[in-house]
Parts: sequence; structure tokens; C-alpha cells
Amino acid sequence: VLPAGEALIGGLIEACRAVITANADHLSELDRAIGDGDHGTNMRRGCEAVYAERDRLARLPLPKALEEIGLTLVMSVGGAAGPLYGTLLMEIGRRMAGTAQADFSQALEHAIEAVARRGRASAGDKTLLDVLYPVHAEVVRRAGLMGIAEQAERSAGLTFGMKAMRGRAAFLGERSIGHVDPGAKSCALLTTAICRFLKE
Ligand code: ADP
Ligand code: MG
Ligand code: MG
Repeated sequence: VLPAGEALIGGLIEACRAVITANADHLSELDRAIGDGDHGTNMRRGCEAVYAERDRLARLPLPKALEEIGLTLVMSVGGAAGPLYGTLLMEIGRRMAGTAQADFSQALEHAIEAVARRGRASAGDKTLLDVLYPVHAEVVRRAGLMGIAEQAERSAGLTFGMKAMRGRAAFLGERSIGHVDPGAKSCALLTTAICRFLKE
């Protein structure tokens, strides 16, 4: 049973902000190894911008709130992650608003495809998509919240062995192997935080 609108949206915003704040240094450290070292800072800036608007956002219908959160991320994050996470949330929101029977799984699938198009990235390119695709697969097979969270963490770990094909890390070629992708890690952390919150 989901908490009612306002508590749901406000709670999700707080849970995401808390996990990013707690892990920002770690995310930037991962990004220092194969990028420019700002992923934690970028994600924290985005979460703070959303948090600052949480009262207004929490009063919106969920699809509209997701769309507006996405827009805020695009405008505030800077860096590759902003438009990618922004696209994900805007497209989930738009798709959920557009269908009579709001099907989260379909909305997520549609949104992940939009992220892939935006980043010109595919599975195995060592990006946040390498967490999003497996998470969607778990949602489809109704794995349950903890199953989804575990898959997200496992999938982020698997980026360790991948060679980056997109984003700054791709400039390193083979040398990008042997590091966890920062965007995949933030995606796993956010997924876990959201699943934990929904389970309570
Ligand atoms: P920047 O690289 O601009 O500094 P961030 O450090 O905030 O941006 O985000 C980097 C993360 O964004 C990467 O770890 C990767 O997961 C993701 N990413 C970067 N470029 C792409 C892309 N073209 N497609 C999909 N994901 C990407
Ligand atoms: Mg970076
Ligand atoms: Mg940067």
C-alpha cells in the first residue's frame, strides 16, 4: 500500500536527497577515477534544488510531480547526469499522465528508451543504463522491492568490468575497465533508497 500523494512525493524526495548527501564524496571519488570528479557534487546540487521545492512538488499529482522534478534536474545539475536523470523522470511522468491505467512498468520502459536515445547509449556501455535496464527487468517480473534493490546494486557492481563507450569515461578506452561507473552507482543508490522508502 502506497502512502497518499503528498507523503509519498515528499518522502521520495527526502529519501533521495539523504542517500545522495551521504554518498556524494564516494560518487565524486568514483568519477575522479574515470571522469572529472564532479558526479557527487552534481547529484547533490540537483537533489538540493528539488528538496527546496518539495512543498510545492508534493501537492502535485504524482505524474506531474515527476515531470517537474525532472525539469528541475535538467536545469540545476549540469554535467551529463542532469539531462539523463531529468529525461528519465520527465518521461515517466508524461507517460503516466497520458495513460488511463497508469502502468509504471511501461512508463519506465518508455523513459529508459528516451534516456538511451538522449545519451546515444546501449546496454553494456558502462553507464547508468546498465542499472536501469536490469531494474526494469525486475519490475516486469515482479521481483519485489528488495529484489529490485539487490539487482540494482549487483548491476552497478558489474560496470566494474565494462569498457566505457559513452561520456567522459569513454576517452580512457581500456583504462576505464576496473572501475565502477559513477552514474551506475548513483542510480543503484537511488533505486535502493526508493525501494526502502516504499517498503516502510
Ligand atoms: P559529467 O561527465 O558531465 O561530469 P557526471 O559526472 O555528473 O557528468 O555524470 C557522469 C555519468 O553520466 C557517467 O558515470 C554515466 O553513467 C553517465 N553518462 C555520461 N554520458 C552518458 C551517455 N552519453 N549516455 C548515458 N549515460 C551517460
Ligand atoms: Mg563528472
Ligand atoms: Mg562534469
